[in-house]
Amino acid sequence: MAEYCTYEKYVLKKKLETLKNKSVKSAELISLYVPSDKQISDVIKHLKEEHEQASNIISKLASNNVREALDSLLAKLRSLNKIPENGIVYFAGVVDTGANRTGMVNEVLIPPEPVVHYIYHCDSVFYLEPIEEMLRECGTYGLILLDLREASVGMLVGKQIEAIKHLHSTVPGKQRKGGQSAHRFEQLRRIAIHDFYKRIGGAASEAFLELEPSDLKGILIGGHSPTKEEFYEGEFLHYELQKKVLGLFDTGYTDESGFSELINEAEDTLQGIDLIKQKKDMDIFFKEIATESGKVSYGEDNVRANLEIKAVDVLLLSEELRAERVSLMCRVCGYENRRTRIWKTGEAVPTIGNCPECGSALEVTDLIDIVGEFSELADKGNARIAFISTDFDEGSQFMIAFGGIAAILRYSTGM
Ligand SMILES: [Zn+2]
Repeated sequence: MAEYCTYEKYVLKKKLETLKNKSVKSAELISLYVPSDKQISDVIKHLKEEHEQASNIISKLASNNVREALDSLLAKLRSLNKIPENGIVYFAGVVDTGANRTGMVNEVLIPPEPVVHYIYHCDSVFYLEPIEEMLRECGTYGLILLDLREASVGMLVGKQIEAIKHLHSTVPGKQRKGGQSAHRFEQLRRIAIHDFYKRIGGAASEAFLELEPSDLKGILIGGHSPTKEEFYEGEFLHYELQKKVLGLFDTGYTDESGFSELINEAEDTLQGIDLIKQKKDMDIFFKEIATESGKVSYGEDNVRANLEIKAVDVLLLSEELRAERVSLMCRVCGYENRRTRIWKTGEAVPTIGNCPECGSALEVTDLIDIVGEFSELADKGNARIAFISTDFDEGSQFMIAFGGIAAILRYSTGM
């Protein structure tokens, strides 16, 4: 599901943010990218070698930290039966956890796209670029390239291009053979073109109608003019596909090599689509507020209550919002408390501070990510989740004035 995909993206983004903030003085943090075709036993062998070499590190503390990180990685790898389809990514190391304490970070991530290269990286920061690269827009786009000689049908899935079908036409060139009347020649040529367009439409149906309609975000058509325009205007695509066409773009190639050209040409359009959807959601939200219809709700407690009674149609969450409900406890005097901490992407996570009763350091005993909690509730109530960026006025207003949490309701609930 597209929405699920958006949420997955959020989870990964948030994890990467935490990892990004970690840094140590010497090269002690390990990043490991394992593609699916790599043998687990080979990786274990490699890590054992690194373990041995780590004993040569001059700083005793650094040497211990690296070996400790490797031990935790080895333990994780040994418990792995099989490398997942997209490969697997590990980040491990001893980091400062605040209040003069250190702790082991050991994060396992299943990447949204296949890991291509095996990477072992030991540095003072985690090596996040390859997985950050994968955090592009999810979803699938249909690709069609055509001129009068050939056509290609393919898909853009995440960042991967898949060629599906290549077709050759039987359309004769402009030069007619001797003895044929000009009129007859033109007639036959039109028929051949028409047949070719129908074949392309058929190939597109075969490729794209199998997908869940919500997974297919749109279709891009590329090639030469006026062929692609004629194909589009002639409605040779299945009507379900025809309405998903996002635009027509000029490309020099109509074979497989034209796919990346088409995507580059369409890049602005692709980026705009998500934003247009977000703007529509914000328009509805602000309109409902202005008319006091009661069909909107905002703030953590109200939105949660509406989610629980399944009254939410669209859950609106700012992309910048980071919110957690933490349960706190004081080991010294037994004081307990539960509170929400909210911050924005790029800001430091608020510290939990000390016990108001005795002044000792508080400990987090439980932590619930609010975006995660709300997304789950939204799924249960069949609500759509919309992440709203702050790249446009209403989006940033939503974060500033409404705390980045709101809902469009199915009916007024008074909350
Ligand atoms: Zn206390």
